[in-house]
Amino acid sequence: MKDTFKHQGMRQKLVDTLIKKGIKDENVLNAIGKIPRHLFMDSGFIDHAYQDKAFPIAADQTISQPYTVAFQSELLEIKSGDKVLEIGTGSGYQTAVLLELGAKVYSIERQQELFKKTSKFLPKIGYRPKKMIFGDGYKGMPEEAPFDSIIVTAGAPFVPNPLLGQLKIDGRLVIPVGDNVQTMTLFIRKGPKEFEQHEFGEFRFVPLLEDKN
Ligand code: SAH
Repeated sequence: MKDTFKHQGMRQKLVDTLIKKGIKDENVLNAIGKIPRHLFMDSGFIDHAYQDKAFPIAADQTISQPYTVAFQSELLEIKSGDKVLEIGTGSGYQTAVLLELGAKVYSIERQQELFKKTSKFLPKIGYRPKKMIFGDGYKGMPEEAPFDSIIVTAGAPFVPNPLLGQLKIDGRLVIPVGDNVQTMTLFIRKGPKEFEQHEFGEFRFVPLLEDKN
C-alpha cells in the first residue's frame, strides 16, 4: 500500500477541519498531516480514512476519530523524550501520533488479534514503540513506571487507581470516564496523593474491557 499525493491532499483537508474544530497544537497538527491513516484501516474503508470519523477495525474495535486523537494528544502536552503509556493500542494510529510527538511509547492492548496485528504493522511503516504488550490496561505497566503521561483510548467506567499511581509528579493522565458517554478527564499529579482534575466535555469510545480472560 502506498501513500500518494491524493492521500496527502486529503490529509491536509483533514488538518484544516481539525483547526476549524479548535485544535491548535502545531506539533499535533503536523503529526496528523504526516501519518498515512489509510494504512491503519482495513482496505474496505480506505476511502473514508481522511474523514473526521471513527471506523471499525478488527475484534469489534474502532480506530478513534481524528478529532478525538488530536484532542487527547493536545491535553497530554508531550515534550520530546517523554515517557508515555498508552492503554488501548488498537490500530496503532494514536501510537504513531505519540511517536511523531517525540514520545517514548509503552502500549497495552487487551485483544490478542489486534495486539498481534499492530505490533507487526507499526515497525513495518517505521514506527517503533519502546514496548507493546498484550495485557490489561487497568493495571498499567508497573515495571516501567513512572510515566510523564498516560493516555486511555477506551471508555473507562471508573478511573483505575494503578494509573494514577504510575504518574510522575506533574505527570498527566488523559482518560474518558463514563459508561455510554464519557467525560474527557485530565488528572495532573501534584504530590504523592494530590491530583488536580479538569473536565473537557463528552466523547464516545468503545468500553475499556474488564475481567477479560
Ligand atoms: N487508539 C486506538 C483506539 C482503539 S479503540 C486507535 O485509534 O486505533 C480502544 C482499544 O482499547 C481497543 O483496541 C480495545 O481492544 C482496547 N482495550 C479495551 N480494554 C482494554 C484494556 N483493559 N486494556 C488494554 N486495552 C484495552
